[in-house]
Amino acid sequence: MNDVGLSERARSLVRPEVADLDPYDPGFVECRVNLSANESTWPRPEALERAVHDALVATPLNRYPDPMANGLRDAIAAWHGVGRSQVVVGNGGDELIFDLLLAFGGPGRTVLDMPPTFSVYDIYGRLVGSTVVAVPRDPETFEPVWDEVLAAARTADVAVLTTPNNPTGNTVALGRVEALCEACPGVVLVDEAYGEFAPSMESAASLLDRHPNLCVLHTLSKAFGMAGARVGYILASPELVDVFAAVRQPYTVNVLSQAAATAVVEGRDLALASVADVVAERGRLTEGLLALGLRVWDSEANFVLVRVPGAHVVRERLACDFSILVRDLSSTPGLEDCLRVTVGTPEEDDAVLDALRQILRPVISGT
Ligand code: PMP
Repeated sequence: MNDVGLSERARSLVRPEVADLDPYDPGFVECRVNLSANESTWPRPEALERAVHDALVATPLNRYPDPMANGLRDAIAAWHGVGRSQVVVGNGGDELIFDLLLAFGGPGRTVLDMPPTFSVYDIYGRLVGSTVVAVPRDPETFEPVWDEVLAAARTADVAVLTTPNNPTGNTVALGRVEALCEACPGVVLVDEAYGEFAPSMESAASLLDRHPNLCVLHTLSKAFGMAGARVGYILASPELVDVFAAVRQPYTVNVLSQAAATAVVEGRDLALASVADVVAERGRLTEGLLALGLRVWDSEANFVLVRVPGAHVVRERLACDFSILVRDLSSTPGLEDCLRVTVGTPEEDDAVLDALRQILRPVISGT
């Protein structure tokens, strides 16, 4: 985030919910190794690249997109064994989170959040005027504190649960998701943006038949290597999908993204071939960080959370001296001295480990 924030004049012009927001700045700079945004850095199989290329070339740009992206919806529905009416596609998962909070949150309504977690639930929740009720996770394990969560859920209009959680990497058991759906009279968003990296986690999509208040969010930005195309989707009951269809901007997913995403969903076996490699590499990166004497949390996502003494300075040195970008979370409550490192290719991860070894050498050797 930007240190400066909005100008006094701009603050005087905007709604009160906007005045305290900072212009979004993910801290991107040109660098050699970018492991800051949980993108995939693994090469995609050539056959899939060709399918995407052919789909893009065959797409005319003179017409507006199909507003509901029905071709892509059908491909996603067939994949997940649901009907088209249970799928809504958005310009990235971020947009769907915004639409959900716009429709079900708002003034006089409450949004249940479980920090530390993905910050946009809180930001968008407040932006649309909702009261965000935060039930912090356990400070050591980052497991949600279930008795407090379920108590707060009973009066929530929206409850958001992320599994695997960003940035802590842990999953929750399906029984907990079900209890949340039962306790909450409003809508439950289960954000599974990183679900593909947790092969032993059963998707909450299996609960859709029993819980009409459930929305399950997926994205093509992570395991499918499509962050630049901005495509995410929600699986939910037809009546909730109708709500998204009512509030969303009609032409938000452009023709090129629809075409590329359809090719990737149809070629998903090829697209997902690298997931097992990322999972193995996650283990190697974790071991490497542990060997440096650092605290690392077990992760089921494509990133790891690590506690590094002087994290803020270490992040600066990684960027300035080694041209390596990781995410500094040290100013987030509960994540003091924590960095989040995306699992890269073996070469990228070795670069991070080598750089950290050099930066931390004086600390490790006690000199
Ligand atoms: N949910 C979580 C937990 C995320 O970390 C992200 C991306 N950082 C998203 C949703 C949104 O991803 P996208 O908008 O790229 O689909």
